[in-house]
Amino acid sequence: REDALHCTGCGVALQTQDAEKLGYVPEQALTRTPVICQRCFRIKHYNEASSITLNQDDFLRLLTHVGSTQSLVINIVDLFDFEGSMISGLPRFVGNNPIVLVVNKIDLLPKATNYNRILNWVQRQAKEAGLKVAEVVLCSAKKNMGFERVIEALDKHRRGRDIYVVGATNVGKSTLINRLIRDYSDLDAELTTSQYPGTTLDLVRIPLEDGASIIDTPGIVYQHRLTELVSKKDLAKLMPDKPVKPLVFQLNERQTIFLGGFARFDFVQGARQSFTFYISNALQAHRTKLERADELYEEHKGGLLSPPAREELDKLPKWVKHPVRIPKGSNLDVSISGIGWVKVNGEAGADLVIHVPKGVKVAVREPLI
Ligand code: GDP
Repeated sequence: REDALHCTGCGVALQTQDAEKLGYVPEQALTRTPVICQRCFRIKHYNEASSITLNQDDFLRLLTHVGSTQSLVINIVDLFDFEGSMISGLPRFVGNNPIVLVVNKIDLLPKATNYNRILNWVQRQAKEAGLKVAEVVLCSAKKNMGFERVIEALDKHRRGRDIYVVGATNVGKSTLINRLIRDYSDLDAELTTSQYPGTTLDLVRIPLEDGASIIDTPGIVYQHRLTELVSKKDLAKLMPDKPVKPLVFQLNERQTIFLGGFARFDFVQGARQSFTFYISNALQAHRTKLERADELYEEHKGGLLSPPAREELDKLPKWVKHPVRIPKGSNLDVSISGIGWVKVNGEAGADLVIHVPKGVKVAVREPLI
């Protein structure tokens, strides 16, 4: 019987099994008429967009048609996981459409941050990644910082066209879209839905005053992000909710810093020097001798070295080692997806080994701060 039911909002086949999947409706809501899926219900009643997700291949396939439209593409990335949340291959499918790169979560930077430097840094990183952007905007969707700059950029680059909003999961896409629904869309007009060509995925159009629309797209799942590997409970613990406090450690070679129980930073070789850790405020750093590190981990994982909690440990991939060489005289960040980054003032050079759950992205980059 349930098979025959479709959402009167978006037309998707309804199901009551999986709240994360398309067409979900709670059992008890099936008796309501007209019956609509939870996603449409939320959008209609709370003006709230909620995310569905796709892996990158499916996502790029889905969006190949954007290149043949006249539109503006808003790509949201997470400043706290910049390397992890950049969409590789984005320029391929957007065609000649302009891209505005919205860098979210700037509220997580230390209080005394020079935003112009950050802006220049992002512009250089985007260029290096082969992403040609019309504009870079820094904001915090959650703390409502820079939202007026987002609106200005949309007004400037949109020129009557539709806006496609794309991003990896957890970058704050829903938070930003909900602000746009409230402050930028035409609330009197009906949301309309259709399907992406050749798929059963629905495409929700949020109407704008001039008849164009904002189109939300599914969040992209990247397996190289720690935030995809952890349980919901640990994710809540891992996500920073306050500005990161730089932690400075003067280390001798053969010293190790544990980052909660999620990662381990070994300073294997080099002259005594300082390392600055910018990590999620939810994680504690613990220093030990390299020789003692394995033993300490076995003794304290899930306890002193947490999150992850003890019962989550078996669900995470085993750690793998990433050797990193910082050449003499270079200033670099080592970024660890989902955890933060470590600034190495490599005047003397340093040999490091980063231990992270298998798959998690470790990258070396020009220092952010
Ligand atoms: P989506 O998966 O991209 O739609 O992301 P959500 O909007 O659901 O946000 C994912 C998580 O990031 C939630 O825990 C949000 O509270 C948080 N978040 C979103 N925007 C910001 C922001 O500007 N700053 C901070 N610190 N957290 C944010």
